[in-house]
Amino acid sequence: MTRWSVMINIGLAMRNAPNAKSVSTKMFKRLGEGVTTDQVVKQIRELIESGELRPGDRLPSERTLADRLGISRPSVRTGLRILSAMGVLQSRHGSGTFMSSGPPAESQLLRLLAALHGFSADAMFEARRILEVSLAGLAAERATDEHLAMMAEAVADTYASLDDPKSYLVYDMQFHRAVAVASGNPIVATLMDMVTAALYEMKVQTIEHATHLEESAAMHRKIYQAIRAGKADAARAAMTTHLELAQRDFASEEAAEKDGSHADKNDVPRRASRLPKKDARH
Ligand SMILES: [Zn+2]
Repeated sequence: MTRWSVMINIGLAMRNAPNAKSVSTKMFKRLGEGVTTDQVVKQIRELIESGELRPGDRLPSERTLADRLGISRPSVRTGLRILSAMGVLQSRHGSGTFMSSGPPAESQLLRLLAALHGFSADAMFEARRILEVSLAGLAAERATDEHLAMMAEAVADTYASLDDPKSYLVYDMQFHRAVAVASGNPIVATLMDMVTAALYEMKVQTIEHATHLEESAAMHRKIYQAIRAGKADAARAAMTTHLELAQRDFASEEAAEKDGSHADKNDVPRRASRLPKKDARH
């Protein structure tokens, strides 16, 4: 495993809890013939709401679930796929299907919507500013020592990867995720995670053209220092400046990418980012 993928895994907040508990099959009620995939999703949701399924729990096998629910394996599989795409479940090759134990960074939902509706990078950056400026302010009020340590480590990692833009991008995301976690609001943090994951798909294609990584890393440090000092206004201001620069940088990276490689490749994100003015007005 590369350091990069190791860090992604760590960044996704203990999603692969080693001591995941396998749940009892008794909790699954028989659905019987003629059920739709929706009902599989509904039953899982009810089990989550009642606390019987918890983050990190391991689900019974597809076959066991099919027997237990009294429906076909394809119906079970489709239901599980839908939940995986939402980021509620996570299937791990060879070890089974688990309840997600962290925010749905792997959620396909916003990515799919972005592809479908052509969400622009500008609209995504605007969403990030709306969410992350507030998150930075909250983090300044609520961050624990542990949160500060996570941020400090991510800042150090961004500095250490200035000559490796793809790694930089991963540590950059980790820094923002650490700020989000430190805010103490898991709902806003989750929304941020979804936007960031969708934007990452675009960024990873252009990041090799990045020219301001050092400046960006310095801004992370400034945000971190403001949060550590408990200065909410300064943290919000620093985050605003940072995300404005990130948006400008992305636009120039994208332009450089277009100049460098006309046509071919996967041009979906580029098309998506050209479309959008109408989305930005919603
Ligand atoms: Zn950043």
